[in-house]
Amino acid sequence: MSIVDNIKKIESEISGKGVTLIAVSKTKPIEMLMEAYNAGFKRFGENYVQELTEKQEKMPKDIEWHFIGHLQSNKVKYIAPFVSLIHSVDSFKLLQEINKQAAKNNRVIDCLLQIYIAEENTKSGMTEEECLEILQSETIKNLTNIRVIGLMSMSTFTDDEMQVRKEFRKLKTFHISLISQYPQLTTISMGMSGDYEIAIEEGSTMIRVGSKIFGNRVYTE
Ligand SMILES: *Cc1c(COP(=O)(O)O)cnc(C)c1O
Repeated sequence: MSIVDNIKKIESEISGKGVTLIAVSKTKPIEMLMEAYNAGFKRFGENYVQELTEKQEKMPKDIEWHFIGHLQSNKVKYIAPFVSLIHSVDSFKLLQEINKQAAKNNRVIDCLLQIYIAEENTKSGMTEEECLEILQSETIKNLTNIRVIGLMSMSTFTDDEMQVRKEFRKLKTFHISLISQYPQLTTISMGMSGDYEIAIEEGSTMIRVGSKIFGNRVYTE
């Protein structure tokens, strides 16, 4: 199956469910992204700042770029001029830096707070308590160049579907506890190639799919 066929298949699976597909193109060459683009698909996710800025410079300017990886504060300035949604905000300090760089670019940047739900301890993100602290803080009201529009999470990398479902359900439950007070949190970014069906059943509104579209990644180092 071609890249375009893979995207069409996933889009038909999610159609009518209120779910947005982000094609995770990390490590993949521009030619592969352009196959999707030329078929009308314009939402890509990347997790390295340098790779993202290189692709953004070379590719058409109507692409929606999603940043999904760990973001260091000192690198925000490189993506602030164009990034469409930052999924992986894991600290208040980072949120403040995004606000500062967005202001310099006369932009308002949409952000998701990445919540730590996986049982394995390798995944980044903040705890539910840290997330609440940020949402409730007085300072966030002054950050007029960011908008926190939802939550993001990654599940444990495991074949155990019950475990994955439990973790997604945990994020959705947390979301439900927030939504009446914070109705702007409309987005729940959860689900990747191996688990997006479960994620959608558990309430995802945005899935980040890489290998099921572009094939397995080959890392050289
Ligand atoms: C790489 C990555 C994905 C996509 O992973 P696949 O399993 O290839 O679909 C999704 N989200 C994040 C945060 C990633 O780093």
